[in-house]
Amino acid sequence: MRKMAAGNWKMNGALSDLTELTLLAQRHAMASVDILMCLPAPLIAPAQKEGVIKIGGQTCHVASSGAHTGDISAQMLVEVGAKAIIVGHSERRQDHNEDNATVQAQARQVIEAGAQAIICIGETGDARERGETLDVLADQLAGSVPEGATSGNTVIAYEPVWAIGTGVVPTLEQIEEAHRFIRNTLVDRFGSDAQDMTLLYGGSVKGSNAAEIFSVADVNGALVGGASLRADDFSPIITALEAS
Ligand code: PEP
Repeated sequence: MRKMAAGNWKMNGALSDLTELTLLAQRHAMASVDILMCLPAPLIAPAQKEGVIKIGGQTCHVASSGAHTGDISAQMLVEVGAKAIIVGHSERRQDHNEDNATVQAQARQVIEAGAQAIICIGETGDARERGETLDVLADQLAGSVPEGATSGNTVIAYEPVWAIGTGVVPTLEQIEEAHRFIRNTLVDRFGSDAQDMTLLYGGSVKGSNAAEIFSVADVNGALVGGASLRADDFSPIITALEAS
């Protein structure tokens, strides 16, 4: 099982901010966990010199090439250095109407391009209040994760939508319930290899709450938005994961 500290800069950051990655690479040169930073596409190539830190993308098109003005394929991201690509982030599902079928097609493209698919799933606050959390997760896992997913080519990120960028974090019991359900569902479908699939928790992870979140069974790392932008904020999360 590979533990992973993954960052998602979203639509933030400039060339000058890559110094944050230089700092992280220096501080964690001997890291015992995978460190991944998913950057805006224009920053992927310039960031390649950052040693221990793997660089990733944040989305890709469902096709490998074609007449899709403004879109970027998984192959293109991999060619400039992306080792992993996030698909199905709730902001993509919401802002671009990306449904499970779209996310599954994107994940297939990522895997075929030779990168790791970081597939995001998670319920909205309304769905949780209606008691539908596990139904939503079951539906998203069935619809978004492609056949052929393995512990090598796929990572699942559980990101309750109501916890993203809000400062609100689920209880440890809620995180444990979701992760246990995700693990069991994956093992039912993919067999024992899914015991080794890395499961990330995402949603308002910070240095101050990382250790307790990483103590939860079946949490193998984090997908981090806001606290991934600055080395001083992300570094304690890496350290907490290494200690878990
Ligand atoms: C995210 O963007 O995937 C995320 C979890 O954001 P934040 O850490 O800011 O809640």
